[in-house]
Amino acid sequence: MNKNQRIESEMIHGGDAPDHHFGSLATPIYQTSTFSFETAGQGERRFAGEENGYVYSRLGNPTVTVLEQRIATLEKGEKGLAFSSGMAAVSAVLTSLTKKEDHIICSNGLYGCTFGLLKMLEEKYSITHSFSHMESEEKLRSCIQENTTCIFVETPINPTMKVIDLSMVARVAKDAGIKVVVDNTFCSPYLQRPLELGCDIVLHSATKYISGHGDVVAGLVVGKEDYVQSLVKHEQKDMGGVLAPFDAWLLLRGLKTLHVRLDRHSSNAREIAERLQAHPKVKRVFYPGMDSPSQNAIVEKQMANTGGVISFEMKGSKQTAQHFMDQLSLIKIAVSLGDAETLVQHPATMTHAVIPEQERRRMGISDELIRLSIGLESVEDLWDDISQALHQI
Ligand SMILES: *Cc1c(COP(=O)(O)O)cnc(C)c1O
Repeated sequence: MNKNQRIESEMIHGGDAPDHHFGSLATPIYQTSTFSFETAGQGERRFAGEENGYVYSRLGNPTVTVLEQRIATLEKGEKGLAFSSGMAAVSAVLTSLTKKEDHIICSNGLYGCTFGLLKMLEEKYSITHSFSHMESEEKLRSCIQENTTCIFVETPINPTMKVIDLSMVARVAKDAGIKVVVDNTFCSPYLQRPLELGCDIVLHSATKYISGHGDVVAGLVVGKEDYVQSLVKHEQKDMGGVLAPFDAWLLLRGLKTLHVRLDRHSSNAREIAERLQAHPKVKRVFYPGMDSPSQNAIVEKQMANTGGVISFEMKGSKQTAQHFMDQLSLIKIAVSLGDAETLVQHPATMTHAVIPEQERRRMGISDELIRLSIGLESVEDLWDDISQALHQI
């Protein structure tokens, strides 16, 4: 493989070795749970790690390996690892970086289930966490405790779309000797590559943009070889959240068009965000870099484009927001994001309902907040649907 290939080519070719598959252009699906050995001695050597080769699909599968190599290439990391869901990836990474009574620093806004996992870690293992806006080095540094082992960042933050300066976070973490984990689900490696900015581990809910077609639930992690190897050995092998070969194949297929899709998701979303901003029934629009020069400077520094997710607040109440959603017809009411279909959801009662109200408000999630994952339809059809729904409330 040409090491200097651009990212668009690597979406399609990165990490692949078609010679090993009889020249098959599409990666074959190795739908097998186990692999036979030619001799008992070979079995012994494979188990002892003295000979490379597959053993059992929870420990590795050739279709999944192609995906893991491709995501590692795209994120500019040493090694990738696939999981059965984004949350399997988040939980494996967080449990690998902590032991009982450690402390985690998080961005001031997290995916709802990541928040739920942190609560569980606190209740069962006394692993505490604190939130930071991560607006400056000083503020972030002041959150570090003696028992802090990692910083967990989402940027843009779901669903308020605030961005965090990843090279600043990486600098602070390096000084303190702790790790930075970035949930890069909203960007994908096409828009943002945290490892290039000095962060240590990047993870994805591949269910979203990487799949892109709303037909698979999956997670991915990329980091240094020795770190990922220890994740394989402990968290994944023994906790077992592995990805199925067919699901890996769907993600490989999705990746081939990721760049083309995200260009359109981004241009459609920017257009809708601007039109919403100008609408009299809309109170506020949240879209990366919009309306804030300091936020925009971070977007320009670390993101190739602004992505497909928009949040906005209606003038009114929870009922106004739900009434608006019920008037939409082309746009479907569903959680998840990154699909070809435009989806709308209500964070306070859906994705972030597990978060106590007070905490939710501190994160900027009001009852009037609506999140849109802008799809690949005609932007004019999307606007027709949104503006007729706004007109009816
Ligand atoms: C969806 C999502 C997750 C969880 O991923 P699953 O694939 O649903 O388990 C984690 N982080 C973010 C930002 C997400 O959007």
